[in-house]
Amino acid sequence: MTDDPTPIPADGRPHVVVVGAGFGGLACAKTLARAPGGGGVRVTVIDRNNYHLFVPLLYQVATAALSPADIATPIRSILSRYPNVDVILGAVEGVDTAARRVRLAGGRAVPYDRLVLATGSVYSYFGHDDWPHVAPALKTVENARHIRTRLLSALEEAEMCDDADRRAALMTVVIVGGGPTGVEMAGAVAELTRFTLARDFRRIDPRAARVLLVEAGPRILSAFPEHLAAYARRKLEALGVTVMTGQAVERIDATGVTVGGRAIPAATVVWGAGVAASPAGRWLGVDTDRAGRIRVAPDLSVPGVPGVYALGDTAAAADDAGKPLPGLAQVAKQQGEHLGRALALNLTAGTAPAPFRFRNRGNTAIIGRNAAIFDFGHRTLKGWFAWVLWAIVHVYLLVGGEKRLSVTLRWLWRYATYERGARLITESPPSDVAEVTTQDNSRRRA
Ligand SMILES: Cc1cc2nc3c(=O)[nH]c(=O)nc-3n(C[C@H](O)[C@H](O)[C@H](O)COP(=O)(O)OP(=O)(O)OC[C@H]3O[C@@H](n4cnc5c(N)ncnc54)[C@H](O)[C@@H]3O)c2cc1C
Repeated sequence: MTDDPTPIPADGRPHVVVVGAGFGGLACAKTLARAPGGGGVRVTVIDRNNYHLFVPLLYQVATAALSPADIATPIRSILSRYPNVDVILGAVEGVDTAARRVRLAGGRAVPYDRLVLATGSVYSYFGHDDWPHVAPALKTVENARHIRTRLLSALEEAEMCDDADRRAALMTVVIVGGGPTGVEMAGAVAELTRFTLARDFRRIDPRAARVLLVEAGPRILSAFPEHLAAYARRKLEALGVTVMTGQAVERIDATGVTVGGRAIPAATVVWGAGVAASPAGRWLGVDTDRAGRIRVAPDLSVPGVPGVYALGDTAAAADDAGKPLPGLAQVAKQQGEHLGRALALNLTAGTAPAPFRFRNRGNTAIIGRNAAIFDFGHRTLKGWFAWVLWAIVHVYLLVGGEKRLSVTLRWLWRYATYERGARLITESPPSDVAEVTTQDNSRRRA
């Protein structure tokens, strides 16, 4: 650990460091800053990006419906109204719990009195280290742009391709994982090819593109009631998506995927299957669950590590019945708000932090135009009304009035015209799109 001092001057007030400006970290910092007595606390938010990303709408960037700027907001601008909150752009690499310091890449160290770890999750490829390169996941802006480039470049390539097998591979999209991300992505790709791009090409018919959703479990959307999952499957199939359940992906490489012993040549493969926690548990050297999430106490503190708390996707917390809380934005946000209030009271009035209680506001997924599902626990909703509610909730949750307005206008325009304005290939096409399918052909020909 370096002794390089933090650039934030100490001023005698207790210092709370929040690592991660996602849903949980941001909610915690804002609530702490706003809470009665919160001004008596100094807060530093550290994130490796200078923006907060609205992850639930990433699939719309990947399928050209929205631009990255529609769903990403600078952290400094979100927190500019709170004078007691500082922001550091930096990647955390470790925590010295004995010296109470957070270690940043580049050797800088930031001291803390209380530390909140809200570093989210990463995709897990179940030990297949070669799969991320050929099957990008939807987690970052870079991922979404990369997937968009892959999708659009493959269709451009297909337009110029005279070999029927190769063209079929270029026009095949495989989405691995039948959770909400996979379902939303499959529905959006199907709508992109069936409607938006239908008349844009001269030699290929984008409506003939194959979209496959592959799920190893017996059904898609396992976290939702069975009748909602069945409805989602029917809607996907009506859009032309082939839903394959009970079949695990055995291989992914540059030529496509192998499922149930059958090779499926595909230029675009999107990963939406396993999730693992950020490495925060390793920084502390504490007990984690199988997904690497830090097992936290009911007040979100990390047992055995004084002054350290964890929340959101990187924490394993349970509800009143002892059931693990799901990795959802609403869980992270509620935990952040709870901890913000609890820390303000603790640091200014000495009150012991209260246990966190999750209030389920409803789990949702969208399948496509006029089709979404909601599960509120005691009741469910599906169809057009659920779709409108999904849109209202997501616009409301976006940070900033400008984003809400721009996204609403884009959605209304898309609803009226099927247009997707962000159909731009802004990166060089991935070399393996062409390479992959050529390899596949040469193998078949050999
Ligand atoms: C494609 C997709 C769709 C989803 N859709 C929904 C949905 O519709 N509804 C829903 O409720 N949930 C949804 N989720 C889940 C939801 O996004 C997460 O549960 C939520 O983002 C968790 O919040 P968090 O604050 O724990 O982490 P995040 O929001 O992921 O934030 C983590 C932050 O930590 C930062 N960070 C990470 N590591 C470091 C480091 N070493 N140093 C510095 N900073 C770091 C990151 O840059 C990021 O800003 C979706 C997730 C995905 C991937």
